[in-house]
Amino acid sequence: MKFDQQIRNYIYGELEAPISGTYIDNYSPATGEVYSKIPDSDERDVLRAVKAAERAFPVWSNCGVKKRFRVMMRIADIIEQYLEDFAQAETTDTGKPITLSRTIDIPRSHSNLRFFATAILHFASEAHHMERQAINYTMRRPIGVVGCISPWNLPLYLFTWKIAPALAAGNCVVAKPSEITPMTAYLLSKACIEAGLPAGVLNIVHGYGQKAGQAIVEHPLVKAVSFTGGTATGKRIATLTAPHFKKVSLELGGKNPNVIFADCDFEKMMTTTVRSSFANQGQICLCGSRIFVEKHLYELFRDEFVKRVKKMVIGNPYSDKTDLGAVVSKEHKEKILSYIELAKEEGGEILYGGEVVEVAGKYENGYYLQPTIIEGLNHQCKTNQEEIFGPVVTIMPFDTEEEVLAYANSTQYGLSATVWTQNISRAQRMAEKLEVGIVWINTWLTRDLRTPFGGMKNSGLGREGGWEALRFFTEPKNVCIHV
Ligand code: NDP
Repeated sequence: MKFDQQIRNYIYGELEAPISGTYIDNYSPATGEVYSKIPDSDERDVLRAVKAAERAFPVWSNCGVKKRFRVMMRIADIIEQYLEDFAQAETTDTGKPITLSRTIDIPRSHSNLRFFATAILHFASEAHHMERQAINYTMRRPIGVVGCISPWNLPLYLFTWKIAPALAAGNCVVAKPSEITPMTAYLLSKACIEAGLPAGVLNIVHGYGQKAGQAIVEHPLVKAVSFTGGTATGKRIATLTAPHFKKVSLELGGKNPNVIFADCDFEKMMTTTVRSSFANQGQICLCGSRIFVEKHLYELFRDEFVKRVKKMVIGNPYSDKTDLGAVVSKEHKEKILSYIELAKEEGGEILYGGEVVEVAGKYENGYYLQPTIIEGLNHQCKTNQEEIFGPVVTIMPFDTEEEVLAYANSTQYGLSATVWTQNISRAQRMAEKLEVGIVWINTWLTRDLRTPFGGMKNSGLGREGGWEALRFFTEPKNVCIHV
């Protein structure tokens, strides 16, 4: 599948230029060069998209689940058929290693579509019998036109994670990918055309969040908004939607603790911790950026962790051998570096990393950073409280379970946590007391798409995944029949 140099919006089944006629430069993080142009859409494009979705809604919502299932499965098949093209596009847009795009991002995207296409065939609602009086049943109808807005770190993976349940449930969608990484969403629009998705069922508008994104959120016909991104943007969306009582699902930032007890399976923990710290250059909302290690394991852990991280290969993201590619943008690189400076000011010692990586030749202007390990900071400092969202972790020792729970729960965030221990009772106690939406015990990023996904505290509102997502994208109505 061809990725064009000029991306177009996907509205009412057609690929079209933005009404303004203006475009935004799209950079490849691997080379630092502009490689394509993104529509700089505004509220006029959003209005066209919303109207298209409104027009398509009566037919799509009433066509029956089998028809929706069939067309969504076709879209999934096309993504799988062009997996390599999608993977190349994802790596070019994000700078992530091609192995990640090939084995995680793109496969998960077609799985999302298949998962919700089949889930809708099994989706059932509740019934409540009142003996000799009445029968109640819950009718679940699609909401109408809904908005889906996603971030740049897992572009197609998170975009389809929202769009798939919305479409399966019978809604029509106006969606916006991050303007930093729009290419696979553009390829998705081509896949939808090839699959025969009826016009207007899915509309993709490209452009800036504060312009195109906000126009989607604010449009009165958009009845629900599913958003993944930063906590500050989530707060803005909550403020904009509250007066209109729109349904919102917010998946926001994290500062996840990785708690390692001395009785863990050391080898499994170590291999996984290298990954949970630096996969996708640390730009996964679920990465464990604060590592707490029980005191009598601390030195052994630190030395082995540094030794392994030193061996990681950084650079050309198109090489199968690369562990860390480029971070997503020049601005993001500067932000991460400023946090490393802050960590030093706060008394942290850089055990490894902290520097820009100079990659020779074609990639010399790309945005490459060393994986960075910092020790000597307390849990309350800014470095340990704010989301960095890059290849930077801090390591800290602890003595007791109570102490590490207080450290782990000390931030405004509550997305996920990882716990390493062979003691099942302790694992259970920790799982109960950690203030997060997702706990992994002796593993990380093991995902079953049926489970509720999301965070507590300032990491979000509501849950995605499985029935939770289908419930979000439907309106329940109780019907009471007197008998
Ligand atoms: P942002 O919040 O900056 O942006 C997310 C999306 O919202 C983008 O498409 C952006 O558009 C758009 N946007 C920005 N402003 C508005 C607005 N006023 N109205 C509507 N839409 C808007 O997040 P990032 O893209 O920087 O992503 C990183 C963040 O996402 C991190 O905090 C990370 O933790 C979080 N995240 C959370 C996950 C979770 O499941 N909890 C998963 C993955 C990431 P544009 O970029 O085009 O301007």
